[in-house]
Amino acid sequence: MIDRDRLGALLRRERAAFADRNPRSAEEYANAGNLFGRVPMTWMNKNAAGFPLYLATARGATLTDVDGHEYTDFCLGDTAAMAGHAPEATRKAAQEQFANGACAMLPTPDAAWVGKELTRRFGVTEWSFALTATDANRWAIRLLRAVTGRPKILFNSYCYHGSVDESLIVTSDQGPRSREGNVGAPCDVTTTSRVAEYNDLEGLERELAHGDVAAVVMEPALTNIGIVLPEPGYLEGVRELTRKYGTYLVNDETHTFSAGPGGATGRWGLEPDVVTIGKAIGGGIPAAAYGLSTEIARHIGQRTDLDLIDMGGVGGTLAGNALSIAATRATLEHVLTDEAFTGMERLAERFEAGTKQVIDAHGLPWSVSRLGARVEYRFANPAPRNGTDSAKAADADLEDYLHVYLANRGILLTPFHNMALMSPATTEQQVDQHAVVFGAAIEELQRA
Ligand code: PMP
Repeated sequence: MIDRDRLGALLRRERAAFADRNPRSAEEYANAGNLFGRVPMTWMNKNAAGFPLYLATARGATLTDVDGHEYTDFCLGDTAAMAGHAPEATRKAAQEQFANGACAMLPTPDAAWVGKELTRRFGVTEWSFALTATDANRWAIRLLRAVTGRPKILFNSYCYHGSVDESLIVTSDQGPRSREGNVGAPCDVTTTSRVAEYNDLEGLERELAHGDVAAVVMEPALTNIGIVLPEPGYLEGVRELTRKYGTYLVNDETHTFSAGPGGATGRWGLEPDVVTIGKAIGGGIPAAAYGLSTEIARHIGQRTDLDLIDMGGVGGTLAGNALSIAATRATLEHVLTDEAFTGMERLAERFEAGTKQVIDAHGLPWSVSRLGARVEYRFANPAPRNGTDSAKAADADLEDYLHVYLANRGILLTPFHNMALMSPATTEQQVDQHAVVFGAAIEELQRA
């Protein structure tokens, strides 16, 4: 078991070492008084050490900070850089397109190529673009409300789909409620949403039976509360139940894209009605997409009452801009290719094995879960089977200790939970380096 006093002392030691090691980052943070929370976006204050590292350069799976330290980057922009930082093909395509205009409000021929490629990978046939996965989800939700005439969207407890109002709902002993910390909710979330536990088909059926759910929006495997994998039959059951109750099924593949070139949808042969995806497809340039089934697109096309051209609530001025689309084409065509995923997955298996070995050697009651190129360690064994249980397995001090310890020795994990992602540029040596440093962190923690 973890000695909490020892953990506290080690965490203090590592935070002090971080402060000593990073004077320029500390200074930049101190000088950022006109930024809300001192950071460009408030979530950048999610750092284990008290202030963030400031980026100097990021190439492939390696990053340097303004104090001149080099890091192996397993965070990869929380998936936005799953293609590796600044991959050459994307860089070239983006530079060329930018030189020729980015935001002309006119389509470029690349978009049709991207639509076809996304169809090959994910199955659904009618694609449209956004700049963030949040917006892809928002717009898909609006369309499905319009098609069904139903008011509610169902989510899994402790899911994350971006800052989508409807999604900030969790289960509790008192029934469904707003997720803790929900900022300025426009209305009581239970008026727009229903919630079920992941891996719980009975709970899902109970909610769908109300007949008011337009769509289930889900990640095929949860990835934002640790990785929670589907139990045998669960995803098939979700599909059956959604069909039975006339509810559309949306797979948000933004993170589960790590499962393969067509995400979990392609990997597991799933048949969603809609797929949403953001982050990685642009290779680092903001880009996202949502794909509709032919049937949904036809339905919507027949509805003359829906304003999809002007101010009807779906769309954004920069969505589908030439720069994002050029970057997305290059990333899909040359970087996150079918072959690239094979190599990324092999590395993730290696990462998983190395991490497990350390955990087993120390007899820790932790688990390691993997989804293709993504690996996560969680402080519970067996691995939690739903979001609520996984949320309970969080241990903030332990997480912070591991994050700072690793950062002080040149390794970055995603700041939220303990996620490591492989890119086409990641190397075996980088993966093995993690196992050594992770082993040392645990060894110090367990030392009598
Ligand atoms: N969907 C999923 C599954 C995500 O993990 C995230 C972000 N972590 C989003 C949507 C939202 O992405 P963005 O913040 O880029 O809009």
